[in-house]
Amino acid sequence: MRHTANIFTLIFIIFLYSTIYCSSVPNESLSAPLLLLISFDGFRWNYPDLYHLPNFNLLSKRGVRVKYIQNNFATVTFPLHYSIITGLYEESHGIVGNTIFDPKLNAVTTLDTMNDTRWWSQNSYSQPIWTSNELANDSYQRRSGVIAWPSIGTPINGHLPVRYQLFNLTRKFDSILQQIIDWFREPAESRINLGVVYYPEPDMTGHHHGPISDEMNKTLKECDDYVGQLLAMIDIDEYLKRNLNVIITSDHGMESIRKNRTIILADYIDTKLCSAYGSRSSVNIFVPLESNINRIYANLSTIPNFEVYKKSQIPDEYHYKSNIRIGDILFVAKAGYEIIAPGDNASIELLGDHGYDDRVESMHGIFYGFGPAFHENMQVEPFHTVDIYPLMSYILKLKERKTNGSIDNVKHILRHHINNDLFDEINLLLSKTTSYVTSWGFITDGCVLLVILISIVYIIVAFRHSRQLIYAEPQFPIRYRLLSNDEGSKNNFFPDASDNEELE
Ligand SMILES: [Zn+2]
Repeated sequence: MRHTANIFTLIFIIFLYSTIYCSSVPNESLSAPLLLLISFDGFRWNYPDLYHLPNFNLLSKRGVRVKYIQNNFATVTFPLHYSIITGLYEESHGIVGNTIFDPKLNAVTTLDTMNDTRWWSQNSYSQPIWTSNELANDSYQRRSGVIAWPSIGTPINGHLPVRYQLFNLTRKFDSILQQIIDWFREPAESRINLGVVYYPEPDMTGHHHGPISDEMNKTLKECDDYVGQLLAMIDIDEYLKRNLNVIITSDHGMESIRKNRTIILADYIDTKLCSAYGSRSSVNIFVPLESNINRIYANLSTIPNFEVYKKSQIPDEYHYKSNIRIGDILFVAKAGYEIIAPGDNASIELLGDHGYDDRVESMHGIFYGFGPAFHENMQVEPFHTVDIYPLMSYILKLKERKTNGSIDNVKHILRHHINNDLFDEINLLLSKTTSYVTSWGFITDGCVLLVILISIVYIIVAFRHSRQLIYAEPQFPIRYRLLSNDEGSKNNFFPDASDNEELE
């Protein structure tokens, strides 16, 4: 008797579920998943704990807060932003600094001149998430919109997103937010399903005033207000509220700089024998004559608070070695110290900087995720910059692609980790059946029974998979060196890599 009552209860719940499903969202399950990626440049991992930022704190309850993002060795803006959108380390994607020398191209580039596809397309395998989204060969209509992200406007391996706007230093973030939300809200025939935006604060404030300052407090309040605006824009819109996933992250943190911790490189080495490119925290030194390498290395080795490596000695775990754009000598300042390379203006003093070893605590960035894909009120241990691409790829239901990161390192923050084509097929079948029946007016007992039957299969499949995977523990990131090689600096291309190749 009790067993029968349970069955009736189950059928009643399924009936309710199917009725609600039939009447409310006939088309949304046919839409591509929605994702908005936001980067606040230089937003240090512990700013929300050091400053009063109520909207960031709200994000923790609304979704997932990762303690911090473990970034790559070169903790500078362009390399890390490229790693976020490709899932590749610097030695794999080739953007090894904000200033780069390429011996093969025999050319130097800076932030102002990097709008040449050769810099971004060194590795033919590099593919930004916006390209992966648009090239997915499935039944969804997919479009990407990108605003101000480093590289945008430059085709990468022949591809630009459908919508993009270039970086504009004077543009405020509320204008960027409005534009990206408008793109999400366009008619189905033209709207985007992936938005990617970049904002240059609080990095600029950090450089000019330091990470702990009144000015930083003011800038962070502005960023916090922008997050509040975003939440309000989502909450007043049923479509976005129900479907939009949001990731808010940053590339790196910020370290305080004190006076008398700066060295002039030319005081220690003969700059006629070499050339140096990089930032104040680390430089790649190219030495045309191999016989001069030992001499320059020996001179730099005597300087306290700075580390020097011959290229062959760079630790493998830096993943900053196997590329022709990395110098014969790598010279790195310890946190808080600075290098003035030839061409740099020593009179410009910084009160904050980054670019130091990624193990330095102040270099870590933030990560928040919320929306239907994410758990709520969850705080988790760090994962890596290169894991963000696999995470986004999974949320967008893209085919898994080889990167230096792995979905295995991040899947525990997702509500439903179900990598199963059957789930999608049933979802689509249910949606199509619903819209067919609704359009012909056959709301009959037969229709309801059919939907109930499909719903039972749907729920059983979903329940079984979610029970297996929701609580999966994070795994050790064993795949980080997937695309690296040990062939020195000569070759970092992967001509045989296949987009469709499955991970074992
Ligand atoms: Zn940055």
